[in-house]
Amino acid sequence: MKADPHHQRRLVDIADLDQRLAGLEHRRSRLPEQATLDGLKAERRAATESVARARIHLEDLDRALAKLRSDLDAVHRRRAADSDLLAAGGLSERQSTELDYELRSLARRQDALEGELGELTERYEAMEADVRHSGAMVTDFDARIGMAVTMRDNALAELEDAITTTIAERAREAETLPAELLDLYARSAADAGRGAAILNGGRCSACGMDLDRRAVSAFRSAAEDEVLTCPECGVIVVRTSNS
Ligand SMILES: [Zn+2]
Repeated sequence: MKADPHHQRRLVDIADLDQRLAGLEHRRSRLPEQATLDGLKAERRAATESVARARIHLEDLDRALAKLRSDLDAVHRRRAADSDLLAAGGLSERQSTELDYELRSLARRQDALEGELGELTERYEAMEADVRHSGAMVTDFDARIGMAVTMRDNALAELEDAITTTIAERAREAETLPAELLDLYARSAADAGRGAAILNGGRCSACGMDLDRRAVSAFRSAAEDEVLTCPECGVIVVRTSNS
């Protein structure tokens, strides 16, 4: 295939732009700012779940506390009633002994319930502190996520700008090139991973191979408008004064 040497030279510029574009797109697909944001979101989710779990626990403790308090009330009432009975007098000795016995047993029951109540209240307060702490963590994550979103958006916008500029630049470079040459370039890009490369001192700058002497001299003696491809990697090789 034949093509104006200037057009051939421009293919190398297009290949450079394509490489820059691929790099920018790669960076866009693995933005570190996105990874930071994803990490924060996962941490926030875990903190939210921890709050929800602690709340359920808190409700359970609340119910247990209410039950204990009502049990204690019953014991208080019973003790008061028994004491009133004793104080009123007129009981048989057996009745008095039984009441005495019951009052002592109620006192022990009250002690036990009060002990449990104290323990449960402590657990309740600790759990409440947990809920507050996790809640504060969620709020903190919200603020950090907000900042991370801004940073991600900025980084993304910067990359999008660079991509748009590069695409426009590439379009300008390709505009006046013959379609046939661009087709060959596209095939070379698909097969060799690069559309065009400079032949630099007998070495293909795409695959880095030194071409054998026969190939180099064939390339040197080929007409200027002859489009050449690297026998090693198949890329379009473009000759310069250094070739
Ligand atoms: Zn090559």
